[in-house]
Amino acid sequence: MSEQGCVVVTGGSRGIGRAVALQLAADGFDIAFCYRTGGAAAEETEKEIRELGVECYHAPCDVADLESVQAFVKTVEEKLGGIAGLVNSAGIVKDNPMVLMPAADWHAVIDTNLTGTYNFCRSVVFGFMKRRSGVIVNISSVAGVFGNPTQSNYSAAKSGIHGMSRALAKEVAGYGVRVNVVAPGFIETDMTAGLGEKARKAALGMIPMKRIGEPEDVSDLVSFLVSDRAAYITGQVIQVDGGIAF
Ligand code: NAP
Repeated sequence: MSEQGCVVVTGGSRGIGRAVALQLAADGFDIAFCYRTGGAAAEETEKEIRELGVECYHAPCDVADLESVQAFVKTVEEKLGGIAGLVNSAGIVKDNPMVLMPAADWHAVIDTNLTGTYNFCRSVVFGFMKRRSGVIVNISSVAGVFGNPTQSNYSAAKSGIHGMSRALAKEVAGYGVRVNVVAPGFIETDMTAGLGEKARKAALGMIPMKRIGEPEDVSDLVSFLVSDRAAYITGQVIQVDGGIAF
């Protein structure tokens, strides 16, 4: 087991969560990650994490289900020891203009992105407070900063993460626990792979740096925020978006 302890990464099988898991493994942390379906992507991520010389545990766990989350956290503590950090990256989109949005899609996006983040924070934070150390990084989105048409559910969930994280940061700062948010812009993952040519062009038009970001653009910042180099940074929402302006 790593002397630095382990970091839990939700949605670690693919995309940004996977890049975060690999970077934190390279930083020397053991990694526990969860996903909804996982499959070959999860196995491949585990293989690459282990090649970096650290321990890895992964299992399916629906972040929206508090009981599953509590059971996952308990198993991680049994298998990998104390949890040093948590990165909430699991997320989904179900886009539609509000006028067409089914209630089920509203709730699914809030339940996964916002309640899922609460469920994991709630399940680790008491342990962090008792140990007087711990780091949380929640992944939101520029949609939570600016609002994005067809994404009222997603924008609400991500704005909610900002408020929740700022409040939690104040609650736990005196216990040596830090909470920050990383808000990515457009990043090349399965989530954005479905963007048509027109939408991709429109996205590039909003990005002064004129490129879609890579998952590693996000994981580099997460790595910094988890590390002691960020020891005096808490309660912040930091955008990684090529200078995007809506
Ligand atoms: P992605 O490639 O679609 O990966 C999503 C990950 O979340 C997968 O590992 C998926 O597991 C997991 N997941 C989804 N629902 C889950 C649930 N209910 N319980 C547990 N795990 C679940 O997405 P991404 O682009 O990496 O996005 C990661 C985070 O960054 C999300 O919070 C997203 O909102 C945010 N973000 C992304 C972008 C972007 O442009 N890509 C921009 C801004 C913010 P399965 O594979 O098993 O389904």
